[in-house]
Amino acid sequence: MTNSLLNKGTIDREIYLQEIVDATIDWDLIVIGGGATGLGIALDATARGYKTLLVEQADFAKGTSSRSTKLVHGGVRYLAQGDVKLVREASIERGLLHRNAPHLVKDQNFIVPVYTLWDRLKYTIGLKVYDWIAGRLSLGSSVFISKKETIKKIPGIKSSGLKGGVLYHDGQFDDSRLAINLVQSIWENGGYAINYMQVTNLMKDEKGNACGITVMDMETKKLYDFKSKSIVNATGVFVDAILQMDKPGSNKTICVSQGVHLVLDKKFYPSSEALMIPETSDGRVLFAVPWHDKVVLGTTDTPVEEASLEPLALEKEINFILETAGNYLSTKPQRSDVLSVFAGLRPLAAPQNGDQKTKEISRSHKIIVSTSKLFTILGGKWTTYRKMGEDMVNRIEKELKWGHKKPATATLHIHGFAADTNWNDPLYFYGSDATLIRQHMNGSSNDWLSEELKIHRTQIRWAIEHEMARTVEDVLSRRTRALLLNAKESRRIAPECAAIMANVLGKDQQWEKDQVETFNKLAEQYILN
Ligand SMILES: Cc1cc2nc3c(=O)[nH]c(=O)nc-3n(C[C@H](O)[C@H](O)[C@H](O)COP(=O)(O)OP(=O)(O)OC[C@H]3O[C@@H](n4cnc5c(N)ncnc54)[C@H](O)[C@@H]3O)c2cc1C
Repeated sequence: MTNSLLNKGTIDREIYLQEIVDATIDWDLIVIGGGATGLGIALDATARGYKTLLVEQADFAKGTSSRSTKLVHGGVRYLAQGDVKLVREASIERGLLHRNAPHLVKDQNFIVPVYTLWDRLKYTIGLKVYDWIAGRLSLGSSVFISKKETIKKIPGIKSSGLKGGVLYHDGQFDDSRLAINLVQSIWENGGYAINYMQVTNLMKDEKGNACGITVMDMETKKLYDFKSKSIVNATGVFVDAILQMDKPGSNKTICVSQGVHLVLDKKFYPSSEALMIPETSDGRVLFAVPWHDKVVLGTTDTPVEEASLEPLALEKEINFILETAGNYLSTKPQRSDVLSVFAGLRPLAAPQNGDQKTKEISRSHKIIVSTSKLFTILGGKWTTYRKMGEDMVNRIEKELKWGHKKPATATLHIHGFAADTNWNDPLYFYGSDATLIRQHMNGSSNDWLSEELKIHRTQIRWAIEHEMARTVEDVLSRRTRALLLNAKESRRIAPECAAIMANVLGKDQQWEKDQVETFNKLAEQYILN
């Protein structure tokens, strides 16, 4: 198959979809879901040479995968829970991702402030074990630092009773940008991935095995059937809906837990080191992580009954984060200081013990193979997306007796790979694409659409032509991070963003108006009144 994207350099979704339709082949793998998990599986399969198609019902990373705490981490908390296997696996993956996407994954210093001698001992030893588990893929060694040094590194930290801090290393990244770069890597390696295509039905062969999907183009409402030798359900908190299509009445496999984050101006946390509070009043970990010139505070762990693509932060979650963070920062943030609030849903594998609290459920992933040979994946973390992809393709090969092709993603550079990242460059997250974007600016590099967020008009066109952005939300939430960094500012620039998009996509004024209206309504949810 020839992938038109490779020849043209830019992307036109309509032409691209027609190419998929015209292919009239049996795919080796169809992956349902374009979050971290589905993208990891599709890239692994593509890199092994399988004919792979990924379909996403909304935009890539519209679900949980754009709403994480932005950490590529082994998981200090999982170590405290004794889940050494998960920490070891995640630490290895952290190291590999740092090597393969150095333009997106940063070695980040974290400081655990300690207020008792027991905590000093506990966290010094615990974090040494954390370093040791990562082995040669460790990002650096942890050390105890004095009270004076802790205050110097975190100028706002509450100093009364402070004994010092333990400094350790983990990874920090931009989740939806990594998702977009994974899509581009799939394209470049000969695989297919397309957004706004919703699976509405599973096709079965005469033996009752899953052999294809019916999918609706959410833009035109047209239905298509695609056949495949294997079907993968990687739909995060929506896996049970697909399992119902497979077998009505199937048991619930997933347990949903919501996590909320608040974004503040960095004046509340004027530090380049992240803060990790290992045990808050509800027993969870709370982070303050510098991100794109702001600080992200989070998160919570609230069981939720219904999965949704736009979950709403609860008042009690917002208050909990403001109060807890306020205990550690010299200036207490108020509601009116919050630039954006976003919520995400964890797709946790439902525990055997129904009473288990969501914060105690393991973040390990689990693969289920239905009697129809539908492959479903549950749980996991962004950090381990690559390993989850590898495990799934290995499992498909084994179950369907395909023979084993060597996995290739452990050393595969992700689109945008650039060895020397200047983290102060506003375009740093484009990696090697930043040079091309600057060329398109034609000498207008200071002509910002948003001076505050350092978003240039050229980025809008780039998002459409190279990253398959289809709506104002795609551009302002996931190609740039405007909505999550400053929701009011994102609302201010939405009309101009829509006008640029309408021009590039050939849309009319009504489209522009609808886009702005829809985006404004969404942005309301990210603004605290
Ligand atoms: C608050 C919070 C903080 C987190 N922080 C971290 C962190 O710092 N580091 C870390 O490693 N992990 C973190 N995680 C975990 C990580 O974000 C998730 O494990 C991961 O993003 C899940 O990805 P996914 O692809 O399984 O799900 P999703 O990203 O939700 O993707 C599933 C996709 O399937 C699509 N879909 C559903 N139904 C259909 C259909 N019928 N047809 C087509 N497509 C469909 C959805 O639209 C969605 O885009 C965090 C999670 C939460 C909730």
